[in-house]
Amino acid sequence: MPKTSERLLKVPPYLFEEIDRKKREAQARGVDIINLGIGDPDQPTPAYIVEAMQKAVADSETHNYPSSSGEPEFQAAVARWYKQRFGVTLDAGKETTALIGSKEGLAHVCLAYIDKGDVSLVPSPSYPVYKMWTLMAGGEPYLLPLTAGNNFLPDLASIPDRVIKRAKLLFLNYPNNPTGAVCSPDFLKDAVAFALKNDLLIIYDNAYCDMVFDGYEAPSILQFPGAKDCALEFTSLSKGYNMTGWRIGMAAGNARAISALRVIKSNADSGQFKAIQQAAIAGLDNSSNIGSLNAMYTRRRDVLWNGLKSMGCNMPAPKATFYFWVPVPRGYDSTSFSALLLDECGIVSVPGTGYGEAGEGYVRLAITVDEKRLAEAVERMRAKKIQF
Ligand code: PMP
Repeated sequence: MPKTSERLLKVPPYLFEEIDRKKREAQARGVDIINLGIGDPDQPTPAYIVEAMQKAVADSETHNYPSSSGEPEFQAAVARWYKQRFGVTLDAGKETTALIGSKEGLAHVCLAYIDKGDVSLVPSPSYPVYKMWTLMAGGEPYLLPLTAGNNFLPDLASIPDRVIKRAKLLFLNYPNNPTGAVCSPDFLKDAVAFALKNDLLIIYDNAYCDMVFDGYEAPSILQFPGAKDCALEFTSLSKGYNMTGWRIGMAAGNARAISALRVIKSNADSGQFKAIQQAAIAGLDNSSNIGSLNAMYTRRRDVLWNGLKSMGCNMPAPKATFYFWVPVPRGYDSTSFSALLLDECGIVSVPGTGYGEAGEGYVRLAITVDEKRLAEAVERMRAKKIQF
C-alpha cells in the first residue's frame, strides 16, 4: 500500500464520526441517550415533497445522468425562490447551480479558488468544512474569533494587511452554526464593502435561513448592493424541509464564481438525481410547512432555554437555528462538560472545540428531540445539580 497523501495528515477525523462512536458506546452500556449532538431534523420530509419524488421517480426521463450544475427547471425554481423570498433577481442559467447538499459546494468552491499559500478568512468557531477544505486545497485558514463579546461577529477591521493581501475567500454564516447568532443588515453591508475593497469572494453560508423564530427574518447577502460582484451564497433544503438525507442544495450569486465552481463539480460529480431535483422544486415553490416547523422549534427552544436559565445559564434565547451555544459551568472545559453530560446525564452534546479553538468554554446542544425529551434532559441536568 502506498502512503496516504500529506493532505490527509492535515485533516482530523470528521467531528461527528467521533461523537457517534461515543454515543454508540454509551448505548451499548444500556444508557437511554438523549441525542442533542448532530444538527439533523427529527421530523419527516413534508408529504407533498415525498409525493413529488414518488411521481418523479416513476418517470423514466429522470433516470439518466443529470447535469452536475442542475437541470434548467431546478435552476429556474432557485431563481423564483430568490425573487419571491428575498426580492433578488438572478439569471438562473448563469447565477445559480444545484449542489449535492451545500456541504458539497462549500468543499468544491475551495478547490476552485485556493492554491498553496492562499488564505481563507474563516470564523472560529465555525462549520468545520470551511477550514478543512481550505487545508485540503493547500491553503491557510486565518481564523476570525467569534465571541460573546463581539456578538459572534468577526472583527473584519482587525485583520492585518499582510493577511488580507493573501486572502481570497471570506466565509460568513448567519444564522450561525454553532453559536445560533444572527447578524444585522449593516454587518452584511459592511462585509460587502470590505470584500469589494479587498478583492475577496464572500462565501455566504445561508443554510439556516429558513429556521428563524420570534419574527426574525434571515436576509440573503445578495440583497445588498454590490454583493453579486463579490459573493456566492449557499443554501439548502436540508434544514427547512427536513431533507438532510436527500442531499440537495444550491449556490447563487456571482456568475464567474458559479462558473468556476461548475468546472470543479463537472469533473467531480455527475449531479443530483433528477427526481430529487423535481422534489426540491416542489419544496422551493411551496414553503408553507416552514411556519409550523418553526413554531415547533420555538416551543422546544423555550423548554430548553427556560430549563438552562433556571440552572443559572445566562445565554440569550437563540433567534434562529436549532442550536444552543452553552457556556460551560465553572470548573469545566468543553470536553469535560460534554463528557459529564454524556456519562452522568446520557445527553449527547458537541464540545465547542470541535468547531475551532475559539469554541473552548462552550458545548453545542441541538433541539432535535421533542419537548418531552428536552424537559427530561433538563431534569437530568438538574438532578445532577449542574449549575451554570
Ligand atoms: N452549512 C452549515 C453551517 C451547516 O451546519 C451544514 C450542515 N449541518 C451545512 C452547511 C451543510 O448542509 P447540507 O450539505 O445538508 O446542505
